[in-house]
Amino acid sequence: MPERSESDSRKLLRRLRDMLSVPGKGQDRLDQITHLIADSMKTEVCSIYLFRDPETLELCATEGLRKESVHQTRMKLGEGLVGRVARLGQPVNTANAPAEKGFRYMPETGEEIYSSFLGVPIQRVGEKLGVLVVQSKTARQFSEDEIYALDVVAMVLAEMTELGAFIGDDGAMKALHKQPVLFRGSSGQEGAAEGRVWLHEPRVVVTNPVADDPLTEIDRIRAAVGELRVSIDDLLEAEQLDKDQKQVLEAYRMFAHSRGWLRRMEEDIMRGLSAEAAVEKEQSAARSRMEQVPDQYLRERLQDLDDLSNRLLRILTGQGKDTGAEMPENPVLVARNIGPAELLDYGRKLKGVVLEEGSVGSHAAIVARALAIPLVINASRVTSEALNGDPILVDGDQGIVHLRPEETVARAFRDKIAMQAEAQKRYASLRDLPATTTCGTTIALHMNAGLMADLPSLEGSGADGVGLFRTELQFLIRSKMPQRAELARLYARVMDAAKGKRVAFRTLDIGSDKVLPYMKPPEEPNPAMGWRAVRVGLDKPGVMRMQVQALIRAAAGRPLTIMFPLITEFSEFQAARAHVLRELHRERSLGHPVPERIEIGAMLETPSLAYAPRAFFELTDFISVGGNDLKQFFFAADRENELVRRRYDTLNLSFLAFLEQIVARCAETGTPLSFCGEDAGRPIEALALAAIGFRALSMRPASVGPVKALLRRVNLSEARAVIDRARAEGAESARPLLMDWLATQSGT
Ligand code: PEP
Ligand code: MG
Repeated sequence: MPERSESDSRKLLRRLRDMLSVPGKGQDRLDQITHLIADSMKTEVCSIYLFRDPETLELCATEGLRKESVHQTRMKLGEGLVGRVARLGQPVNTANAPAEKGFRYMPETGEEIYSSFLGVPIQRVGEKLGVLVVQSKTARQFSEDEIYALDVVAMVLAEMTELGAFIGDDGAMKALHKQPVLFRGSSGQEGAAEGRVWLHEPRVVVTNPVADDPLTEIDRIRAAVGELRVSIDDLLEAEQLDKDQKQVLEAYRMFAHSRGWLRRMEEDIMRGLSAEAAVEKEQSAARSRMEQVPDQYLRERLQDLDDLSNRLLRILTGQGKDTGAEMPENPVLVARNIGPAELLDYGRKLKGVVLEEGSVGSHAAIVARALAIPLVINASRVTSEALNGDPILVDGDQGIVHLRPEETVARAFRDKIAMQAEAQKRYASLRDLPATTTCGTTIALHMNAGLMADLPSLEGSGADGVGLFRTELQFLIRSKMPQRAELARLYARVMDAAKGKRVAFRTLDIGSDKVLPYMKPPEEPNPAMGWRAVRVGLDKPGVMRMQVQALIRAAAGRPLTIMFPLITEFSEFQAARAHVLRELHRERSLGHPVPERIEIGAMLETPSLAYAPRAFFELTDFISVGGNDLKQFFFAADRENELVRRRYDTLNLSFLAFLEQIVARCAETGTPLSFCGEDAGRPIEALALAAIGFRALSMRPASVGPVKALLRRVNLSEARAVIDRARAEGAESARPLLMDWLATQSGT
């Protein structure tokens, strides 16, 4: 590092900071900056291009190009050399710009006479803000040190931009984190919510990008890195780390001890950055690389480095995760990702949840669903944009988020919420009425639950009972295996809350997407079809038996309903049932009260079970169709995969024909049958299921009202005739004809 360039960049930074510390109008400031940089770097041109929208860059200030082109010249991301810098997130340095591939001639700027070009991205922790360019007439390649200096200046500009230094009355630059932004993610849980952003992990704000005394800053960064290393060592020494946690921490330790990392930060400090800004610069570089690395493993390592930088920033700034900020009213949680237990801690006080990552089957999604909180997942970059307290609208139906919405958008959204509330009121008025169709058939509507928190909905929703209690949630939200007594207490509370209504407890359904933190399954190439649910229970019966004991004790003599997930053949059901009978016997011999009545049923989630011997249908006390899994196996379309999960319609006539066979087989033996997949809660789907013979449906609580409202208005024989007509006409799905028919029904 030559001493000359070192002090040059420091001098430049200091001049920049001094200039920025004097209040000034946005445009004037930008003009002064370009002048200052061109002067310091001895180039004829210095220009600042900033993003107007994520795809468009605009020339916002220049020294050397024609002034008339300011705010006129625009280019698309990737277009021309400037666009290339922005897209790559890396410098472009050339002595002969016009000869470069992709060079775009812009006559309005008069730039053809400038031969050398050096452009560096203006970005903040991976957030692209614009491009800073210097150009000169003489054909020369800019030196490494010059690139470095410009890069550091761009970094400071990014910080200043973030802090709103260029926002003036003249609108020279739109304020960051002030504009409305729309995020398109995916729906994790339906529902609409309006509220204010509550960041799960607020970002660290760096207010001092430039430092006067590099030696003090070097001391600070060394002390902070030292503290970081100790904290990681402490974590590594903590007990109860599983293999994966250990691996992550080992990777952290490796980075924290990396000489290159500290050296690069120290070099940045020597060039004039504060310790915090130097960390952010490294973090930015890691984020840029992360976007370009296709390899999943490497991306995860860069992610580790990113997390580590955050820790270091928190040490340096003293800003903990808890900033002391008060949670706003109607909080909408915004996070990169969140664990199920943490989400549950926030509980129902959240109006909505927006995640950058996640999947429909993630544990957070399961909890959000259980709490009936609208959830949008895959909202990429939302944590970089959102600030605590920002107004936010969450459309869980469409998977859309409006951050800082325009008033017109907010108004339309409020209308939607009001309409939904209105509908809820209508549904509430049906609460105590049965779901009896106009032809006199009554469909039992039950609800799905999985947390104690769900249970208040049993009364409010008007459900007849709990058709599916997913017991795995209690296991997922803990960091270690729950004890029998603890489970027994919980199940007893569930039964108490149900006030005598039937609760079908499903035994632990883990594996596939549901992975217990303390019980890692083996690596499987296709976990959805792997060692999961009752397969695990039968192979390692300890947990299943403990759970059955807990259920028997919780019932304390009351009736009990148990069902087993993913029964694929008769013998599995026999074996699972035998476990229950054995536990009953054991409990009885121990002198514990046993349920006055016990129902043992099977979930039909694989096509094979539909063709099981008649003896199975005779032995099982009931069958509950797990439509989510059954559908994925019927259509061979992964329920977790966004590319295919919506590809096949539940009203596909092949699928309906298959479901009808199940209805017919149950009718032969008089086996009670219900349907408890997500489709049961969709009114049109529920209607079709009822029309083909299902007399019990189990759904999320919020769906009971809409499904009941529709069922009470229709004649099932007519609906059945419509499905038959669709089949006779050779249609693929019954949906179009069913929708047409519904449109002719009064009040629907
Ligand atoms: C199903 O598969 O339809 C079901 C109800 O179970 P889960 O969604 O928990 O797999
Ligand atoms: Mg299932």
